[in-house]
Amino acid sequence: MTTTDPRPRPTDPAAAQSGRAELVASLRSAMDGTVHDDALSRGQYATDASNYRVVPDVVVVPRDVDDARAALETARRLGAPVTSRGGGTSIAGNSIGPGVVIDFSRHVNRILEIDPEARTARVEPGVVMSDLQRAAKPHGLRFGPDPSTQNRATFGGMIGNNACGPRAVAYGRTADNVSALTVVDGTGRELTAGRGPGALEVVPGLDKLVQANLAAIRTELGRFKRQVSGYSLEHLLPENGSDLAKMLVGTEGTLATVLEATLDLVPVPSAPVLVALGYPDMAAAADAVPALLAHGPLAVEGIDARLVEIVRRHHGPAAVPELPPGGGWLLVEVGGADADDALERARRLAADGGTDAVAVVPAGPQADALWRIRADGAGLGGRTPSGEQGWPGWEDAAVPPEKLGAYLRDFEALMADHRVDGLLYGHFGDGCMHVRINMPLDTPEGIGPSRDFLVASAELVTSYGGSLSGEHGDGRARSELLPLMYSPGMIETFGKVKALFDPEEHLNPGVLVRPAALDADLRRPYARPMLPIAGGFSFHEDGGDFTNAVHRCTGVGKCRADTSAAGGFMCPSYLATLEEKDVTRGRARILQELANGSLVTDVRSPAVHASLDLCLSCKACSRDCPAGVDMAQYKSEVLHRTYRKRLRPVNHYALGWLPRWAGMVTRVPAVARLVNAVLGRRPVAKLVMRLGGMDPRREMVSFTTERFSAWARGGDVTVTAAPRQETRQVLLWADSFSEKLDGAGARAMVSVLREAGYQVLVPDQQACCGLTWISTGQLDGARRQLERTMSVLAPFAANGVPIIGVEPSCTGVLRSDLVDLFPDDPRARMIAEGTYTLAELLTAPAPVGPGDTWQPPSLEGLEVVAQPHCHHHSVMGWDADAALLARTGARVTRLAGCCGLAGNFGMEKGHYDVSVKVAENALLPALREAGEEAVYLADGYSCRTQAEQLAGRRGVHLAQLLTAPNPTTD
Ligand SMILES: Cc1cc2nc3c(=O)[nH]c(=O)nc-3n(C[C@H](O)[C@H](O)[C@H](O)COP(=O)(O)OP(=O)(O)OC[C@H]3O[C@@H](n4cnc5c(N)ncnc54)[C@H](O)[C@@H]3O)c2cc1C
Repeated sequence: MTTTDPRPRPTDPAAAQSGRAELVASLRSAMDGTVHDDALSRGQYATDASNYRVVPDVVVVPRDVDDARAALETARRLGAPVTSRGGGTSIAGNSIGPGVVIDFSRHVNRILEIDPEARTARVEPGVVMSDLQRAAKPHGLRFGPDPSTQNRATFGGMIGNNACGPRAVAYGRTADNVSALTVVDGTGRELTAGRGPGALEVVPGLDKLVQANLAAIRTELGRFKRQVSGYSLEHLLPENGSDLAKMLVGTEGTLATVLEATLDLVPVPSAPVLVALGYPDMAAAADAVPALLAHGPLAVEGIDARLVEIVRRHHGPAAVPELPPGGGWLLVEVGGADADDALERARRLAADGGTDAVAVVPAGPQADALWRIRADGAGLGGRTPSGEQGWPGWEDAAVPPEKLGAYLRDFEALMADHRVDGLLYGHFGDGCMHVRINMPLDTPEGIGPSRDFLVASAELVTSYGGSLSGEHGDGRARSELLPLMYSPGMIETFGKVKALFDPEEHLNPGVLVRPAALDADLRRPYARPMLPIAGGFSFHEDGGDFTNAVHRCTGVGKCRADTSAAGGFMCPSYLATLEEKDVTRGRARILQELANGSLVTDVRSPAVHASLDLCLSCKACSRDCPAGVDMAQYKSEVLHRTYRKRLRPVNHYALGWLPRWAGMVTRVPAVARLVNAVLGRRPVAKLVMRLGGMDPRREMVSFTTERFSAWARGGDVTVTAAPRQETRQVLLWADSFSEKLDGAGARAMVSVLREAGYQVLVPDQQACCGLTWISTGQLDGARRQLERTMSVLAPFAANGVPIIGVEPSCTGVLRSDLVDLFPDDPRARMIAEGTYTLAELLTAPAPVGPGDTWQPPSLEGLEVVAQPHCHHHSVMGWDADAALLARTGARVTRLAGCCGLAGNFGMEKGHYDVSVKVAENALLPALREAGEEAVYLADGYSCRTQAEQLAGRRGVHLAQLLTAPNPTTD
């Protein structure tokens, strides 16, 4: 082991520049695909899901396999290092490197063949695992091992890391499920790697090397299932079938680049049953594992109670189904010939669990929710129990399962000795334990104490006969520690293997052989603080530092998930373009580069703005990202920092000030009528839209000719500056959209609330939440709006009068942004806590909600296509709406995915096409499929606008649905 200076290695800038230029030019002439050498792309591919950052010279996105061949050959000819990349979800720095990064995930992703008879599939390396699962399912087949990242991890990456996951306990590792590979090695040779006598001959010298090291290979390698560290040379032994394909699995792109893989498939188990077993702590849970393994389970996962608590806090209590008592659980999946058989086997297994705290959960939503908690563990466990940042680095060590309990006790003692902590979970059935630890990695002085802890951890795991890595591979985090696990002779043999495949060390240098120091190239130490600036967000949940906020993104890549499954909220722009620059993770990377300050130096840099341009500010990441990234907030902050006290793009004034313009126009009804008539003429509308920085294919909004407040004053609604003393009052807060553009929802809400037994109050002054100022980064303006709004709403909140919002995005501002913009103003929190959506109020228990005194109308048989607004989904959650609608008996199709308009986004110049594409993700297909009589339910003004403009379909607010039997005729 060596200790090196952990600062990034210096390079000669001029030489680097000219070398890069030649490389780029040669790649461009050799390939059809894209060759990126801009700061934006290089920054985005500089990290994976690890602690490391290595900026590549070039990012290559090949069009197909031949293009990849051309890229490999060109890089080899010019002596440039090559790192292959799939989903980039490696946690140990396995998929980053200098030179050329090749992204296989974008285009080299065809499923070439599924042979149901032979139970095999042939795939290109960029195929995402869950895509293959979907394709194989009709044949009753699946790929066995399934990493938690299966909805964005590619087979190239799974083969690279020898990925495992929960079901590897039943089906083995990726290596055990690969039968042949087509690869190009570091010398440029294209090989077909298979098994059997003669299989090793394709690499001259390999057989001889194995023969010379038979004893060491037999004793040191392949000792237990999760021995993933190092090269798995045991597959080359004659008694193991001389299997070159399996040996290449887990070599992390350091020996050869995979162009095609033949995979073995297994039958899908029918109706598996989940057994949850509770234990006092995680070590006790681990002790129970060997007895359970005797029952042949499909998965045996461990999960710490404190992690479950985080899920509860993050996603709300409804996200966690009831679990048996315990401080740690085993989640065990049991299969069977049929559902009854599985249930019977589950009961037998439970009896051997050594605990009375047992719940048997048949396949269904409850079991799915429990597995989801486990799958999100790595993201959610990114913080320690006390809320500090937890780092990967020692997150997948493994020991033989029968030793796991003892190892965990020692490991917990070791953490205590080193004064670090982390939440435990993992694949306990295979002895593989996950944890993210708050070892200090972010001090520029170096990581001395953390290095000591990592070395001590490596010594501990090897003392149990374990492996430094049990499934994620060694990467940059563990390769340096391999001499603690293997003899000098074996380390030398690994080097000789590397020399046979890649003598010039082109492929993924710094990993496995001649490794980089584990404390070289760390990402976080070089990030400078970005402290709050006047008027901006406080980032109070991130220690008051924008840098901490953007580093919430650890790269788990959930924002890249499930691109070929229908629907999904996060991330709409990525679902539309499939470009790394348009995904939450890519954007966070560029903001991290901004904090780092070497590649991207200024908040005004084109890279920053290009990466944020297509962010819809939908806030879906704030809910769906397990690390809690809120890109809408970060975009707003960046725009604020960029344009504060400067001239802004014209659409910031046109759309950001929309409530102001609408206020002027609607003050006098005759003016509103006139403006509507003028703007209703297409040529005028187009001109105005062009001048206002909008897309002329859009239609102009129309202004209300009777403001909601005027309607309220004209009727018998109580318009007041302060609550009265009567009971059961609510304050109906009409935001600017409901007041000045479309008041139908607010008016209907008055009826619904009265029917539910409330006296409806309306504030005597209009109060705007500043949403359009926030989304265009005009935070000084937003603050002014919110100051006024707080003074209007606080008297009601202080007296316990529930504030009911009409427009979900505005309600969301009161519930979230308000608190971050005014962290020290007690009114902000009071208002946030006292604000509800209509459905939240109507489903709340008494005394806030109406309880049994009100029942929704029967909408039995009515078909409803419901579009939850993104901010509704993200900030408040839509479960109360779903529950309320279920009580009406309506047939509800709940759309999962943004409508694509997202306030100003879809109106702005340059966003129309993406806006339409996003609408095609869920909204437009659902409207096309829905019957003529179906009601389109959308509380969001933009969601209604989008459906009207793109599908000619009018939408209604929930309040309208509850008041009119056929609200579309309202
Ligand atoms: C939240 C989270 C949970 C995870 N859970 C699990 C889990 O349960 N089980 C598990 O095993 N892992 C897990 N991982 C680790 C990781 O997701 C898996 O190893 C996954 O298989 C990596 O796939 P990828 O496409 O992202 O690969 P990448 O990260 O892009 O690449 C992985 C390695 O493969 C190499 N590679 C990629 N393509 C090729 C190619 N064409 N030819 C040669 N080499 C190539 C890369 O150079 C790299 O060394 C988890 C990661 C995260 C962030």
